[in-house]
Amino acid sequence: MRAVDLIQRKRDGHELRPEEISSFIDAYTRGAIPDYQASALAMAIYFKGMTAGETVALTRAMMETGQVLDLSELPGPKVDKHSTGGVGDKASLVLAPLAAACGVFVPMISGRGLGHTGGTLDKLESIPGFRVGLSLEEFRAVLRKARLGLIGQTPEIAPADRKLYALRDVTATVESRPLIAASIMSKKMAEGIDALVLDVKTGDGAFMKSFEDSKALARAMVEIGRGMGKKVAALITGMDQPLGRAVGNALEVVESVETLQGRGPADLEDLSVELAAWMLSLAGAAPSLEAARAKVRDALRSGAGLAKLREVVELQGGDPRVCDDPARLPAAREKVDLPAPRRGRVASVACRAVGHAAMLLGAGRETVDGRVDPAVGLVLHKKVGDGVEEGEPLLTLHVNDRRRLDESVTLLTGAFRVEPEAAAPGPLVRAVLD
Ligand code: URA
Repeated sequence: MRAVDLIQRKRDGHELRPEEISSFIDAYTRGAIPDYQASALAMAIYFKGMTAGETVALTRAMMETGQVLDLSELPGPKVDKHSTGGVGDKASLVLAPLAAACGVFVPMISGRGLGHTGGTLDKLESIPGFRVGLSLEEFRAVLRKARLGLIGQTPEIAPADRKLYALRDVTATVESRPLIAASIMSKKMAEGIDALVLDVKTGDGAFMKSFEDSKALARAMVEIGRGMGKKVAALITGMDQPLGRAVGNALEVVESVETLQGRGPADLEDLSVELAAWMLSLAGAAPSLEAARAKVRDALRSGAGLAKLREVVELQGGDPRVCDDPARLPAAREKVDLPAPRRGRVASVACRAVGHAAMLLGAGRETVDGRVDPAVGLVLHKKVGDGVEEGEPLLTLHVNDRRRLDESVTLLTGAFRVEPEAAAPGPLVRAVLD
């Protein structure tokens, strides 16, 4: 195979064979194909797309460049959840302990935040001592004990994706549906899981803003999972405003703990319960989705979910006392309120702008190797549909470094639309593909 012939065939809209895709990906990962040819192929895929068969072949090829975990020694179904990313999306911290407390194994391998979106690893690392960089052996040991382990991407998992993603980032080829689907699924399918629930976000704060694009991405990922013999369902959920109230790493851990204590925001609690119920249902750990929902609600009410979080925090070197006393988490030096410009109702909250504002405060990173400040971020007091008086705080910024505070406040001021009247938001779950 000559790389240039493959690039040409894709450029002209032809379908590539699975063995062609796998030898290209393998050679690229080994350094035998240069970046410029991989960029050309990525751009050809960007414009010409891929068939479902090609996308499965690409996913498999990327997965096979690394280690595929074998967790068959764990006695029970293994199931994970993946979110395509959003603002204030801390649902993993709530649903993973709930699902594990209900009897399934949850080997969760998560990512870091980038740009306006947050990442589970950054949130976990705000817990003093918490280690996300366990070796695979340590990960197995934690899973055996707690049924739950929470780690970051290891270099052994899908190395092709690491290399290709960095290339896509600088060649304007990130926003390609087959490339996104293969990138996400190559990592998830390497986790040794039996089932996967996808939370595909849609709306202003999501990767895919339109419902149709989100649905197409969800369908592509469900087809890949099925093509690889796994049980997969996708929930398309709204990201038109942040999930819950907190945006920022330690602030989101506090809100997750409160939710596991039964006093969190309703949208976060409901979405976490729904996703955990789908995890149990796909894994065959409940006779129906309804029964799965009841089981998860029981684990929430009884405190079993919170106990599971405490257990895993301790096993992974973190301070488990944060689960009872969130004041032990890092806190910002200063709090600044953003007042409402007028009396009325919140008609919309520009979600992406809120994520960017939190990033400017230091809660997120602009480049992959940037650092985050675990303590900073913001907490919304008003969300879509809420009434507000003139001058009442719409949100509070938690600040350590004032250098970009003005920029952040300007973004947030423009992010809230307050009108005389506004409807409450519709349901968070917009569609389910299973
Ligand atoms: N997340 C990933 O892991 N890969 C993509 O391509 C996009 C989002």
